[in-house]
Amino acid sequence: MGGPVSPPTSGPPPLRRMIVPALFVGALFLVVFLRQPNGPEPSNQWVLTGQTMGTAFTVKVVVPPESEISQSEVEAAIRGAVDAVDFAMSTYQDDSELSRFNRHGNGPFDASESVIEVVSEAQRVAKLSAGAFDITVGPLVDAWGFGPDPVTDPPGADAIAALLSENGYQRLEVDAAQHTLRKDRDAIRCDLSAIAKGYAVDRVTHELSRLGLHDFMVEIGGEVRTAGSNMGGGAWRIGIERPEKGPGGLWSAVALRDTAMATSGDYRNYYERDGVRISHTIDPRTGYPITHKLASVSVIHPNCMTADALATALSVLGPEDGRQLVEREGLAALFLIRTADGGFEEWASDAWPDENTAGVAGVTDEEDE
Ligand code: FAD
Repeated sequence: MGGPVSPPTSGPPPLRRMIVPALFVGALFLVVFLRQPNGPEPSNQWVLTGQTMGTAFTVKVVVPPESEISQSEVEAAIRGAVDAVDFAMSTYQDDSELSRFNRHGNGPFDASESVIEVVSEAQRVAKLSAGAFDITVGPLVDAWGFGPDPVTDPPGADAIAALLSENGYQRLEVDAAQHTLRKDRDAIRCDLSAIAKGYAVDRVTHELSRLGLHDFMVEIGGEVRTAGSNMGGGAWRIGIERPEKGPGGLWSAVALRDTAMATSGDYRNYYERDGVRISHTIDPRTGYPITHKLASVSVIHPNCMTADALATALSVLGPEDGRQLVEREGLAALFLIRTADGGFEEWASDAWPDENTAGVAGVTDEEDE
């Protein structure tokens, strides 16, 4: 066995010589013909996952057949974008730009373009929500044990009152022209956890578009933005979780077209003291964690940074005041409110898309592929 293969000394009989090429041409015709109605070669999908900002990300990219881009190029662009946000806006890294600002005194602080952009938007949402959203909530977040360092006991009333007296978004000034931030007292410490993940989603979106990609879905820790179509040519369908700590499954799914969605809730990040749920969402006006019945808020907005901040603002405001803000601003929002029997009641604003498939049983994560 083995050795070089010799060319055949004699060919197939004449009839077979004609049939074989005819079959080949026929098969080729069939392939070309069958392809015509569907246009070009089918696209490929890459699913890229990783860790960032204490949570996970998933990016799905539909790669057109003519694309010469490599998966490693796309991965490097995603990693570059999320790392840049993490390094600028983390309160978990002592050497981040935000941590340096938090240690800075009350003189002007030279800030990067991205920090100016995020803090400016945070201040806009703070005014819009009359202080329900407030990035100067940092010391209160830490005191309640939701910052980088664990705490043994929740703060007492005096400690909260003392922290409140040093807090407030009005004490933080952004000078976009000079690229500086300034706080009016040293004690002010900013926490961008409720807005920077959304901003990171926007940065990844920007990088993917810059690489010439048009069809993708970016998700970081539950904040999502989509562009173009999914593999099947339809809208990306994104699940909204049933707001329960365990594997509650999905409440519904929504079709997103070139837009973003963020969800805030009190159902994952909390602890209990004396039977009371202590949520990581703090009402900066009182200094205490929220206690109302609004379990989860989803907001759809063209950019994810704003969706992220609005979702937290509405979570703080609660079902009634939150609804007023949604209606006043014409926002696309979905509220899941706890009911007395342990279930949830849904409220969707007029701007919420009709494709929302509320209550659909068996909607799975795979549906967004
Ligand atoms: P959201 O509702 O989006 O935000 C809630 C968070 O916002 C709270 O936890 C609090 O920090 C803050 N907040 C509470 N009340 C208010 C209010 N009224 N107004 C404004 N803000 C409020 N976690 C880690 O464990 N390790 C890490 O290394 C780490 N790095 C991070 C780096 C960055 C840049 C960011 C943005 C976050 C990081 N996190 C890290 C935090 C982690 O990902 C958070 O759990 C997350 O950002 C909170 O998002 P969420 O979607 O759960 O809640």
